Amino acid sequence: MRKVVILGATGSIGRQCLEVIQDQSGFSVIGLAADSSWEELLDAAVRHRPSFVAMVNAQASGRLAQALSERGCPGIQIFHGQEGVCKLAALEEADIVVHAIPGFEGLRSLLAALEAGKTVAFAGKEALVSAGDLVTRTGERTGAKIVPVDSEHNAIFQCLAGEDREDISGIILTASGGPFWELSIEEMATVGPAEALRHPTWRMGPKITVDSATFFNKALEVIEAHYLFGVGYDRISVLVHREAIVHSMVVFKDGSIKALMSYPDMRLPISYALNYPERGQAVTSQLDLKGKTLTFTQPDPERFPCLDLGFRAGRMGGTAPCFISAADEEAVKLFLSGVIPFTAIYRVLDLALSGYEPVEASSLEVLEKEAHRGKLRVREIVDKGLAFSWV
Ligand code: MG
Repeated sequence: MRKVVILGATGSIGRQCLEVIQDQSGFSVIGLAADSSWEELLDAAVRHRPSFVAMVNAQASGRLAQALSERGCPGIQIFHGQEGVCKLAALEEADIVVHAIPGFEGLRSLLAALEAGKTVAFAGKEALVSAGDLVTRTGERTGAKIVPVDSEHNAIFQCLAGEDREDISGIILTASGGPFWELSIEEMATVGPAEALRHPTWRMGPKITVDSATFFNKALEVIEAHYLFGVGYDRISVLVHREAIVHSMVVFKDGSIKALMSYPDMRLPISYALNYPERGQAVTSQLDLKGKTLTFTQPDPERFPCLDLGFRAGRMGGTAPCFISAADEEAVKLFLSGVIPFTAIYRVLDLALSGYEPVEASSLEVLEKEAHRGKLRVREIVDKGLAFSWV
């Protein structure tokens, strides 16, 4: 039995992870953590009977405790707060920690799991982007391993099995293009949250879905690839691949290119990460390539300028990725609550990054400060009305 802890158990990845575990034998869920959605966590806990649960929100954890005893589930230990989530991340009994907490908020628990030397199935994005050096250094020191769940990085990880990293000459990240691939800039200026949340290919949480529409998601993935695979920004490129069959590619020094293909279904990379280094049972139907046409095009920098922000922040180095990633969290929040238009997301981020001077990303405290600064800067730009001049 492989003992699994899931952080972010009630989000999109967390739920699909529980589906995969239910369909496959050989796993036992020993810990579940979520932010405040205690009712969903209650259902998962009743079904999987973990030994430990944690809720970030203390009030929600109180209600969960009461509900668990009413539902006849005594003996489950309940923690709360960020400390509680970190306790689960570092559980001695755990063989694998699924980290599916989006946003900068996930950083502390990611570091806690790595500090404890765990194998981490990593599905968050911002935590790694914000603290790439700190995360890699911690992993190297403790022997912890990150198996990426994000479909692109999981594909690259699989393509690199048995290969020498010295032999990589480039990484090609594929992008599905998102819901607005065919819209003009003028049309994009009028789209609302409902349209941005309708992703044609992947089912995901709201923040990442908006990021896919602006291409900021791909910007984050560029930085993620840089840290995960130690590849310089000049050797990372992006191709739009509407069919979402090829999940990314690795170019080797002899000119060979490896690609990973499947139907787009997050349960597959989740299953890979849970079973690593073995392979699990089929979780989705096998890809049939007969009659399929696969197309690849260059993303349009005019309509999707957010992609370049990833390269810019990555090359600036230090705390710049942390700053811009936190700034985007705030900008997306403002878009989803109707405060700024869709196209202003880029304008705000561009302005924020242009005036930013990164410092060395030396500790969690420094990163927390710079992430906070990124969010404040966005609010300042929006309050001054500077966000609306870009159509
Ligand atoms: Mg992805």
